[in-house]
Amino acid sequence: MTDLTTKTPPEIDAVIHELGYQRAKLIAHMEGLHTAAHRARTGRYPDPARAAKLDAHAAEYAPQIAAVTDQLKPYHDEFDRRGGWTRAYLVQSNGGHVHGSMHCSTCFPRTKFAWLTNYSGQDEVEIVYAAGELACTICYPSAPAEVLNRIGEIRRPSDLEREQRAADKAARDAERTAAAVVEPATGKTLYKTDRAASNAAVAALDSLRWYGTDHPSVDEWEQTVNTAITALAAKQGLDPATLRADYEQKADKKFATTARKALRELKQQRVDIVVDDLMPGLQTWVRDNGIPA
Ligand SMILES: [Zn+2]
Repeated sequence: MTDLTTKTPPEIDAVIHELGYQRAKLIAHMEGLHTAAHRARTGRYPDPARAAKLDAHAAEYAPQIAAVTDQLKPYHDEFDRRGGWTRAYLVQSNGGHVHGSMHCSTCFPRTKFAWLTNYSGQDEVEIVYAAGELACTICYPSAPAEVLNRIGEIRRPSDLEREQRAADKAARDAERTAAAVVEPATGKTLYKTDRAASNAAVAALDSLRWYGTDHPSVDEWEQTVNTAITALAAKQGLDPATLRADYEQKADKKFATTARKALRELKQQRVDIVVDDLMPGLQTWVRDNGIPA
């Protein structure tokens, strides 16, 4: 048998809490069976045999409940032997407070409490300080205003979850902002990422090469290239003209590779290549480079 006289109030209350929970569960099961038995007996189609069976099943819980009650007794006795100690309970729902007892007049029979056994036996002043804004002013009428105005270390799970969600969202927003490519002059987001800006510039440079300078979208493509590369350069701390030259060079290389491949495929299909029927960009390329061997 453990010597309870050496145990701290939080240690003792933690055991009472755990055993009390087990006991409550057993009682709930037993009551559920009794209710079912009552219904079987008095319902529209009475079934006494079933009712008796349910009652017998319920009765099986009695010794278990009695055993847990016996286990609890020395812990309750130790509480009484020491003349009791302070206890704190948190009502976890929205707007819930920290109370000194579960019989607080501001609570209801169905109010759900979380027993804060870590605070058992602490000075009321300490508990009130830890509860801060959550301290119940009925249970702790002496709580000073400056304590009631601050956030204490005891927090409602719902508040912690809400704060966590807000922090997660702020982190995501910050990440998005950091990733975004913005117009240097206005700060307006042009692209969500560097890659998106780069892809837009590459696609527009490609179109400029394939469709030639007479295409109606030329101005639009040119503007896309200019806007995307200027914004990327500003974000990456690069010189826009140098960055543009890099992109042009890569676009030329990619276009040349694709052009050569397309012309070779046409030759393999033994098609007579009519330069005037090719896409404008290919026509220019053939004029400058000839048909590849
Ligand atoms: Zn209270």
